[in-house]
Amino acid sequence: LNFETMDLSVKNTLSVVIPTFNEEGNIELLYNKLKETIDPLGLEALELIFVDDGSHDDSLKIIKQLAANDDQVKYISFSRNFGHQLALKAGLDHARFKGIVSLDADLQHPVELIPDMIEKWRSGADVVYSKRIDITLPWFKRTSSKLFYRIVNSLSQIKLEDGVADFRLLDQKVIHALLKYKETNLFIRGIIHSLGFQQEAIEYTPNKRHAGETKYSFSRMLRFALTGITSLSAKPLYFSIYFGVFFAFLAFIYSLYAIYVFAFGNEAVPGWTSIIASILLIGGIQLIMIGIIGIYLGKVFAQSKGRPNYIIADKNTLND
Ligand code: UDP
Ligand code: MG
Repeated sequence: LNFETMDLSVKNTLSVVIPTFNEEGNIELLYNKLKETIDPLGLEALELIFVDDGSHDDSLKIIKQLAANDDQVKYISFSRNFGHQLALKAGLDHARFKGIVSLDADLQHPVELIPDMIEKWRSGADVVYSKRIDITLPWFKRTSSKLFYRIVNSLSQIKLEDGVADFRLLDQKVIHALLKYKETNLFIRGIIHSLGFQQEAIEYTPNKRHAGETKYSFSRMLRFALTGITSLSAKPLYFSIYFGVFFAFLAFIYSLYAIYVFAFGNEAVPGWTSIIASILLIGGIQLIMIGIIGIYLGKVFAQSKGRPNYIIADKNTLND
């Protein structure tokens, strides 16, 4: 990226970043729709960056075919699957133009909104994020995403809005700021909001996934949620103190009772049940806390190793 020579005042060039994992049934349709929608805008330059996240279907082949016939099509191909957030990150890292739109490959994010996003961007917004409004998603997905945002918000200082996914337009200067975050496994969704800048929302109704299946199983979503929460805040680390104080207080009350029984009671053996119950309870809490500390420790470990976030196996001419 050459920020020195780039004219930052002209909002007339656009990069589109598309994380792609096993989307062979969607790529061509998405490509056609993008072209149809963006070509009439008469932009000075356009690039469509497909980030192939280690697909094992024909996705990469299809993308390469498109690239062979259209030099606006760029691709980055990962050496294996690294996950949606890192595919997105790679795309943003390589995007060269003034405005950068990111969207999913499965056509759930309506391409028709891109002109509106550009409109808002041109009238001053640096971040145009999208907000899902409808309820046609499966119950489980809706509920779990609502829960996710509620938990993230209560556990971190950052406020994420429900229904905000990775369908947005960013000005290059926002990307520039984002590049300064050197943390591994950057949680883009949470960071963008906290970057500041002029942010505006656009509402949309998601379409049904065109072809293929969702890549987010319950366990992946849970992992995503945990990564998100622990990326955005260190609050969970304080839990052990709160729990500790709370249970120490309970133990104090209980020991008063035990002394009372010892002094005035005539029961022979005080309850086995209460001992077992407290061991299980406290043991459980300790395991949770160790787990939480473990997640953070894992992050420190990953960061200290300084490993790359993603590995590119192949790409066509994109500058670094
Ligand atoms: N994706 C990816 N890597 C993954 C999983 C998903 O690049 O490991 C891409 C996928 O191809 C799609 C987007 O991320 O373009 C969103 O994935 P999906 O539609 O499966 O998620 P959902 O919409 O169900 O939340
Ligand atoms: Mg989807």
